[in-house]
Amino acid sequence: MGEEMKQKISDFKLKFDKSIKEVSTKEDLDKVRSLFVTSKESILITAFSEIRSADGATKKVVGELINKTKKYFIEEINKLNDKFQKEEYDNLLKKEKWDVSIEGLGFKPGTSHPLNLVIEEIRQIFTELGYEMINGTEFETDDFCFQKLNLPIGHPARDMQDTFYVDENTVLRTHCTNMTSRTLSQLAKAKDSIPANVGMLSYGNVYRRDDDDATHSHQFMQVDGLLMGENISFANLKWTLEYVCKRLFGQETVIRMRPSFFPFTEPSAEVDINCVGCNGAGCRICKFSGWIEILGSGMIAKEVFELNGIDSNKYQAIAFGWGIERIAMLKFGVTNIRDFYENNNKFLKQFKFFGK
Ligand SMILES: [Zn+2]
Repeated sequence: MGEEMKQKISDFKLKFDKSIKEVSTKEDLDKVRSLFVTSKESILITAFSEIRSADGATKKVVGELINKTKKYFIEEINKLNDKFQKEEYDNLLKKEKWDVSIEGLGFKPGTSHPLNLVIEEIRQIFTELGYEMINGTEFETDDFCFQKLNLPIGHPARDMQDTFYVDENTVLRTHCTNMTSRTLSQLAKAKDSIPANVGMLSYGNVYRRDDDDATHSHQFMQVDGLLMGENISFANLKWTLEYVCKRLFGQETVIRMRPSFFPFTEPSAEVDINCVGCNGAGCRICKFSGWIEILGSGMIAKEVFELNGIDSNKYQAIAFGWGIERIAMLKFGVTNIRDFYENNNKFLKQFKFFGK
């Protein structure tokens, strides 16, 4: 039985060698693998049960021969398989030629937001003038937002600002002027070592309970300036505002100061510039007046100095504040304030030519 089996395996091996020589595709190879190694048609699979009744020595010799033959089959099949895989890969490389000279899809660079462009321009101007620009706190105590700015509880001027209260003593700041009272209080602690001149510019978000429309938003941005020293006068205020307006809107810009009222300044002045749309002739932007109201300003009131612990006989300060959106609208000809907040790419990418 042993010899007969050996012959069968030898013949099977010859058959395998013939078949594998004829293999030309991976599919052929799969058939050969099935026929000679894995399926019940393979003698290597059936031979073990056939020699079950044989003697030990035969079982051993034939068993070894089966295993050796099987190993040989698998090695030959794997060799061919590797060859097919390499051919497939080479073909793929030939087909997928990379043209490194083709222009890519490209990354579109972002653009600065128009409000940031204005903030940066203001930062540039005031940094040159020696001011320090700070962002400050948006959550503010009633004390710093109102009381220390001469707006005590129950003061009628509080009605001018409809406030978001977070709790009884905390508000979302209604103006950046909160940083004026904070700065003055901080300086008061320095007592005799207060610098000769202190220039501070706060900017950032402010909140008011306003109904949103084309020119109003419940959240908007302000810039608020303070220059304090021992010889500061209204002339410094006028010079500063004129200089800044010319830098922002062009050298031909003319300013006009009108008496006004703010609880934290005395005297107070509203400032107009000649209309950027019609240069004073009258148009829809200036409501045919030729002037555009642009900011509020004044000399810090004695009461505010005292409320924050600063000697009002020794120090004077000029103060001014305006809305960043208002400047951006005038500079860029934007008519709807909501355009600044809606993240519309078509709107925003128009500003790629501005700034650095
Ligand atoms: Zn006009």
